[in-house]
Amino acid sequence: MVEPLRRFGHDVQWLDADALRAQVRSATYLGGLWNKTGTVMVNPAKLAWGLARAAVELGVEVYEDSPAVALQEAGSAMLVRGEFGSVRAGRVALATNAFPSLLRRLRHYVVPVWDYVLMTEPLNEEQRASIGWRGRQGLADAANQFHYYRLSADNRILWGGYDAVYYAGGRVGAEQQHRASTYITLANNFFATFPQLEGIGFSHRWGGVIDTCSRFSPFWGTAHDARVAYVAGYTGLGVGATRFGADVMLDLLSGQQTERTRLSMVRTKPVPFPPEPLRTGVIELTRRSIAAADAHGGRRNLWLRTLDRVGLGFDS
Ligand SMILES: Cc1cc2nc3c(=O)[nH]c(=O)nc-3n(C[C@H](O)[C@H](O)[C@H](O)COP(=O)(O)OP(=O)(O)OC[C@H]3O[C@@H](n4cnc5c(N)ncnc54)[C@H](O)[C@@H]3O)c2cc1C
Repeated sequence: MVEPLRRFGHDVQWLDADALRAQVRSATYLGGLWNKTGTVMVNPAKLAWGLARAAVELGVEVYEDSPAVALQEAGSAMLVRGEFGSVRAGRVALATNAFPSLLRRLRHYVVPVWDYVLMTEPLNEEQRASIGWRGRQGLADAANQFHYYRLSADNRILWGGYDAVYYAGGRVGAEQQHRASTYITLANNFFATFPQLEGIGFSHRWGGVIDTCSRFSPFWGTAHDARVAYVAGYTGLGVGATRFGADVMLDLLSGQQTERTRLSMVRTKPVPFPPEPLRTGVIELTRRSIAAADAHGGRRNLWLRTLDRVGLGFDS
């Protein structure tokens, strides 16, 4: 990865095990890639609040806790129906992530996959010293089922990833927001990575849903004579990419051909998922296969090799 990243102008450094452990101390580390320009870390809640404030200052009206339940044509405009009222709109931009789309066709392309996170109590000075991590880099490992982790401003470790859970039928509700067996896996893997932190507690835990599509990057489209545009399928990487996704939607709603709308990633759709119950079976088979690959030095079985060959993949 070093070579192509440098070719695209990134400042990257390969670290062998010793060099990596000089940055962050874990006996599990074998080597690492330090990308100094290709990623940034943001607090996504602060980003969302900041965007909302900027939008309101521009005159946008925000209605929270107001689910839209249906889209309907109304003359040359659209009616967005809510539970208690409706909004008439000339154009509609749908950015509803992994939640059931108001356009049924999207349900073929997106599956809601749950991702869970633990947050430790604040580390004391001794615990901080035992792991190093003075550079406060964002970290992720390179397995198919990978962990990502960060130090918060108050020196807690946010530790997430690994399990990517699909609930049969694509359920997206309050019951899915916590998963005890995943929290146990996360905690075990945390202490395997940082045994020197044995005894530290986890003060917070939560789960969020990811709009997974088969090509791992977003797709776009229009409906109702291009009065409605949609984007979905960020597959867990939308914090930055949603800016681009929104620009493409605005281009599509303007009816103009632009450099963005001509991109093949904008003009094409991912391969759809099969209907249930086959969908659950295929996802489960893939999940087991990637777990087996991680347990066998990355060796991919026939099923994963077949998916690779047709340009499909599935990992957390
Ligand atoms: C645990 C976790 C970790 C992640 N880590 C990263 C990361 O490190 N980097 C990264 O880039 N991305 C990450 N992501 C993914 C990232 O959060 C998303 O890709 C991004 O938030 C998508 O933005 P969005 O605007 O499309 O959707 P959202 O931010 O989810 O916004 C969609 C909004 O639409 C609303 N909505 C849905 N349906 C309706 C309806 N019918 N009526 C009214 N409102 C509706 C929802 O309530 C929601 O507020 C992570 C996600 C999770 C869950």
